[in-house]
Amino acid sequence: MKKLTIIGGGPAALMLAAQLDTAQYQVTLCEKKKTVGRKFLVAGEGGLNLTYNASLDALIAPYFPSEFMAPIIRQFTNEDLINWLNDLGILTFIGSSNRVFPDLALKPIEVLNKIVGHLSTRGIKFQLNTKWVGWNAEGHLCFDGFEDMKADIVVFAMGGASWKVTGSDGAWHKVFEERGVRVQAFRAANCAFGVAWNKQFIATHEGKPLKNIALTYKHHIAKGELVISKFGLEGNAIYALSQKIQATLLTEERVVIHLDLKPTMTFDQISTKYKRSRQSKVTEILRKDLNLDRTSIGLLKQCSDKDTFLNPDLLAATIKAVPITIHAADVLDKAISSLGGIALTEIDAHFQCKKIPNTYAIGEMLDWYAPTGGYLLQGCFSMGFVLAKYLNGLEVS
Ligand SMILES: Cc1cc2nc3c(=O)[nH]c(=O)nc-3n(C[C@H](O)[C@H](O)[C@H](O)COP(=O)(O)OP(=O)(O)OC[C@H]3O[C@@H](n4cnc5c(N)ncnc54)[C@H](O)[C@@H]3O)c2cc1C
Repeated sequence: MKKLTIIGGGPAALMLAAQLDTAQYQVTLCEKKKTVGRKFLVAGEGGLNLTYNASLDALIAPYFPSEFMAPIIRQFTNEDLINWLNDLGILTFIGSSNRVFPDLALKPIEVLNKIVGHLSTRGIKFQLNTKWVGWNAEGHLCFDGFEDMKADIVVFAMGGASWKVTGSDGAWHKVFEERGVRVQAFRAANCAFGVAWNKQFIATHEGKPLKNIALTYKHHIAKGELVISKFGLEGNAIYALSQKIQATLLTEERVVIHLDLKPTMTFDQISTKYKRSRQSKVTEILRKDLNLDRTSIGLLKQCSDKDTFLNPDLLAATIKAVPITIHAADVLDKAISSLGGIALTEIDAHFQCKKIPNTYAIGEMLDWYAPTGGYLLQGCFSMGFVLAKYLNGLEVS
């Protein structure tokens, strides 16, 4: 039997281990922390989005780069994932936002335990507190405290570089670079972005949500909600644009995004409603006729000059596109996911590192992007499944 070693114990690794043919491979999973799946549990703290409920084309659309991610998701879809979870006794439900959650009776730790329990029944050997540090001269795996673990096949699934406390610290990038593998610099994705709010605005509106809004950046539209923070803006709408904004921030100091406070109304509808209003004060028109809350009105005041605020047409146009200037992304460690990692040109169509024989990499270690809402876990689970399918059909010499 061939020896297959998986390094890292996140969702990508767990799915791989669940799908590998254990009659063909003796599988050992090495995790540097004392338990596996710590980022998965952190993900569960704010509501565990396991995947996203959408047609296959709609599910695939937000992944980047599409040509890399689309075939992976097609081979193991949201439906496949839900069915697999159900088979393990992890029932799911679709939330109002189309995010798929574990049944309310199941805590994230119970979801993880069911997956880990399943792996144990399949004979997967867990080696915890086992930190991979590199290769020795013979190309064997070296771990902190001991050397030389020989494996016929090695799969790395050590995650990205945010939320270091969970074990995914991206420290592996130096070792890979030394081996000649190109690793793109890590940057925050699905993160907050900095806005220079004026003091009065932030003193009143810090922590306040802006619900049912739409954000636009370079023809990309993200609907959802935002939260005003001291640093700037957070929330699913800006997370969904994070990869595009970060791409611009690589070369430019500022990015202007546009916020539509009334995505369900056209400019004409807003303008007509405004002009027909019986209110005398602008803020009353905004509040009573256009149903805008105090934070939206405060934002309009901060982001428009007096002439615009007092002109119905200019104000209607601003309601549809409040310009907001972003000057920075939040720090990487606070981000939900990271951009960067192993360049996709370094792996072949089966996740194999072109420069290191019999060595594969999956999950957030690779340089791809998806928004929050279940897409990240779906992407990681799909990669684990697809690689297992390939390895199960492989003749290892
Ligand atoms: C706050 C937060 C909320 C999130 N919410 C969601 C959500 O609701 N839905 C969603 O889809 N996604 C969510 N995500 C993202 C999702 O959790 C990650 O994309 C996913 O866990 C990445 O999986 P992975 O298998 O690539 O690696 P990870 O889960 O990062 O696991 C990698 C593992 O490798 C181990 N490791 C690292 N280096 C070594 C080494 N040298 N030796 C041995 N082991 C090592 C680490 O300890 C870690 O356990 C969230 C993330 C965060 C931070």
